[in-house]
Amino acid sequence: MSNAPADTWTEPGWDVATTTDVETRWTSVTLTCRADGCRQLVMTALPKNVTIDQYLHTRFVTDHQNQHRPGRALDITVEWEISACCSVCEDEIGDIVQKDEGVTCRECGTTWDLDGTYGHRAES
Ligand SMILES: [Zn+2]
Ligand SMILES: [Zn+2]
Repeated sequence: MSNAPADTWTEPGWDVATTTDVETRWTSVTLTCRADGCRQLVMTALPKNVTIDQYLHTRFVTDHQNQHRPGRALDITVEWEISACCSVCEDEIGDIVQKDEGVTCRECGTTWDLDGTYGHRAES
């Protein structure tokens, strides 16, 4: 019981498709998000002692539904790309790639910290 206003938002829910393997009793589950324009699929397999309902309340599954709340936005996949020019190579372009905890130029072997500082040439 709290004095907070009632949460009138209703989660879009999932279409649930299941097939149970007669031998292993494991149930293959495919969830399809019902929200308009959302095609999020969740596929899993549950042992016989776990119900679909229990699975629908796992954090991973409810987290997606919560992304449909007003004011929220769906997760995106962010890919980070190294973009840097070498300060050692003669063409000043080089080929900077991430390596271990820092970055390195594949052409001249110079290494830097991830933020581009503390550069060390290969043969020094
Ligand atoms: Zn969705
Ligand atoms: Zn270089």
